[in-house]
Amino acid sequence: MGGAGPAVPPEVGAERLRVGVLASQGDFAAHVRMLAQLGAESMEVRTPEQVESLDALVIPGGESTTITKAIERDGLRPAIEAHHAAGKPIFGTCAGMIVLDRLHLGLLDATCRRNAFGRQIASFEADLEVEGVGPEPMRAVFIRAPWIEEHGPGVEVLARVDGHPVVVREGPVLAAAFHPELTDDSRLHALLMAMASGRGAGSPDAGGERKGAS
Ligand code: GLN
Repeated sequence: MGGAGPAVPPEVGAERLRVGVLASQGDFAAHVRMLAQLGAESMEVRTPEQVESLDALVIPGGESTTITKAIERDGLRPAIEAHHAAGKPIFGTCAGMIVLDRLHLGLLDATCRRNAFGRQIASFEADLEVEGVGPEPMRAVFIRAPWIEEHGPGVEVLARVDGHPVVVREGPVLAAAFHPELTDDSRLHALLMAMASGRGAGSPDAGGERKGAS
């Protein structure tokens, strides 16, 4: 990879951002590597105490039912809710997007349709224009991916496939239906880090007061 790529260089400043990836199940290792390449102090997260120590959290792809059960089993839900209430960003990808929706953690005012693209085209790649990360299209790897079936007015749609939202943002919550950790394009991870440092584009109030919280 050579450190090149179109990512926005995060100006982490004196303190490195601590970004955790929920490691209950699924594709967490590639996220941890990508975040480290962007200069974050990235780590696998399995306990409430670890969640409490973070500036930003990634919920990776995998199997949404398994991840949701693991969150309950490991007592992570209150810590994730507190993280969200403090305005700290959360990035859910694929199964992680499902885990954030109204029927699961309820941190994204949206309902996801699982395996939405059907069994015949379970996995595919597409070049997407994603609002807020620059004009260059993003290569997106979809694996038995969901889409956003319905969402509330506070949810901004940043990218669509066939009219269906596949990248969305609501305040500190960012979600993508695909697997951004499987390419060299780290712009969504860079956006997450920008949101964590209070520099995220859009949603001006999101995250602005997080440093003072608790
Ligand atoms: N189909 C999976 C689910 O519904 C998500 C697939 C993925 O994360 N790649 O949980």
